[in-house]
Amino acid sequence: MKLITTLSLCLCLSTMAVAQEKETVIKIDTLSKDVFMLTGQGGNIGIYVGENNVFMIDDQFERLSDKIKNAIGTLTNRPISFLFNTHMHGDHTGGNAKFNTKATTLIAHDNVRKSLEEKLAKDQNLDEKILPEISFSDDITFYDGEETIMAFHVHNAHTNGDAMVYFLNNNVLHMGDTYFAGRYPYIDLKSGGSVEGYIKSHKKALLLINDDTKIIPGHGSPSNKAELEAYVNILEDIKSKIEKEIEAGKTLEEVVGNSSLLSAYDSTHGNGFINPERIREIFYKSLKTK
Ligand SMILES: [Zn+2]
Repeated sequence: MKLITTLSLCLCLSTMAVAQEKETVIKIDTLSKDVFMLTGQGGNIGIYVGENNVFMIDDQFERLSDKIKNAIGTLTNRPISFLFNTHMHGDHTGGNAKFNTKATTLIAHDNVRKSLEEKLAKDQNLDEKILPEISFSDDITFYDGEETIMAFHVHNAHTNGDAMVYFLNNNVLHMGDTYFAGRYPYIDLKSGGSVEGYIKSHKKALLLINDDTKIIPGHGSPSNKAELEAYVNILEDIKSKIEKEIEAGKTLEEVVGNSSLLSAYDSTHGNGFINPERIREIFYKSLKTK
C-alpha cells in the first residue's frame, strides 16, 4: 500500500513538472491600432501589423516559438516581413532561427550580428538563420503605408548593441532592455553596458516621445513617459549615491554590503532579476571604471 502511495505521489509530481513547463501563456496587450505587446518568458515582444508588412521585435526562447506563432496568428495570418533584435541576449534572440524564414528579413545592430556570429562559431547545433541579414551602425528607417518605423542605436547602455524601435504614427516605443519597467535594470557590463550609457539612452527616448506614447519595456508591464521620467530620476539618484561612496574611498565589498544605501528603492524595485546587492555591485563597478 505504501509503495502504491509513493508511486502515485511520484507520478503526480512529475505531471506537475510537465504542467508547469507547459504553462507559459503568451499574453497579448493591444497598445495602439497596429502595435501589440506579447509577454511569455523572457524579453517582451512587439508586433506591428501594418498596411503591407508585419514587423516583429524580439522573439524570446526557441522552446516558445510555436506558442508565439500561434499568438501572432490571432492578430494576422500574413507572414512576418521584418524581425528586429533589440540586442543579442538569448531571451530576445532565442527564437531567431524559428522565425527567420524565407519570407522574413532579420535586422539588428552591427554588434548584435558580431555576438551572434561568435555564438554560432562556438555551437555547432545552432543554425546560421540566427544571424541578421541586415545590420546597421546608427539608425535605420522602415516605411509601411502611413507608418514610419525608426530604429536607432544607443551607445553602451544595456549592452554594446542596443537599439530602440519607434512607431511614429502609432506612437509606440519599444526600448528593449534599456528599460526594465518597475524594477532594477540589468546592465551587462561585460557586454559593453554602462550606467552612463543606460541613463543617456533614457534621455534620448524622452526627447522623442510625448505624454501619449506607449512604451514596451524589455521586461515589465507596458509603460509611459511619466513612468520613464520617474525611473530615470531613481537611476540618477542611485548613481549619485554610489558616486559619493566611491569618492569617499569605499570598496566594492563595503558598498555591496551596505543594505541601507538604496533602501528607499529596494522594496519597490529590488524584487526582480536584479536584487538590491546586484544593483549596488553593477553601479559601483560601472562608475568606478569611469
Ligand atoms: Zn538583455
